[in-house]
Amino acid sequence: MSFSSDTKQELCRLEPERDCCRRAECYGAFLLANSFSPSSVSLLTESAAVAHRAAQEAAETAGVMAEVSSAVVRKGGRTTFAVSIPGEDQRLRFLHHFSHRSGEVNLRIHEENLAHPCCVPAFLRGAFLSCGTVTAPEKGYDLEFSVPFMNLAHDLALLLGRAGGIGLQPAVANRKGRFIVYLRGGEKVADLLTFLGATHASMALMQAKMLKEMRNNLNRLNNFETANIGKTASAAARQLLAIEKIQATIGLGALPEDLREIALLRWENPELSLRELGDMLSSPLSRSGVNHRLQRIVELSERQS
Ligand SMILES: [Zn+2]
Repeated sequence: MSFSSDTKQELCRLEPERDCCRRAECYGAFLLANSFSPSSVSLLTESAAVAHRAAQEAAETAGVMAEVSSAVVRKGGRTTFAVSIPGEDQRLRFLHHFSHRSGEVNLRIHEENLAHPCCVPAFLRGAFLSCGTVTAPEKGYDLEFSVPFMNLAHDLALLLGRAGGIGLQPAVANRKGRFIVYLRGGEKVADLLTFLGATHASMALMQAKMLKEMRNNLNRLNNFETANIGKTASAAARQLLAIEKIQATIGLGALPEDLREIALLRWENPELSLRELGDMLSSPLSRSGVNHRLQRIVELSERQS
């Protein structure tokens, strides 16, 4: 089961409390489906729950008997369910029920079907059930509606943009002859899922997002520390070797006072940072000052044979 189909399952378990919302959900599901005209009203879905819910809502809200059939798609072996309304008189009744006329060239959302604020989430839920998908949170944070007509896609984007004052900013793209209305980003997708009523899916998404961010932060910290410790350690090792060599050749006593002091401090404190060493000097020195002195020691050691 994909995250998308889990989300649809969750939405199909919701019981719309009001008749107006049940009707709005049915309208969203069929309007945004594969066809919505006198010659064909049909909805294709991979979810049995969605198919049966749509057929039931068509019967309850518009009094039409839809047929549900299923077929196994040869490629990929998935089952697809088709919900269709047989008979032109039934289809016309269905369209008129949602105030659509028979000769419409340009399918638009008729907002008079969303009379109350409660009907907007219900309509969008229907639309998501029939043409929506949401990416699994471990792969990304995308939610899309794949819409067959451009104007319908733009109407949907406008409605989503206004939805519940949650500040979604959907975009529309053309992909292989379909119009994709999409949201990107964990917070936006989670907000919309909550708005549609999929609170479990929304929580699962936010949790996955938090875990991923925590893991990224930990990794960044680890990389940072490894890189820095590595650098500090190898620089310190070079300095220790240089001090050892000077001691073995000319002796530390041959060094000028300022170099001798830092050489001894470094020798005794191989793990300290340059700044910490600088603070320990009889007259404290900046990090770069310490670095400069240690650099002179390394150069001096390189001149000893
Ligand atoms: Zn309502």
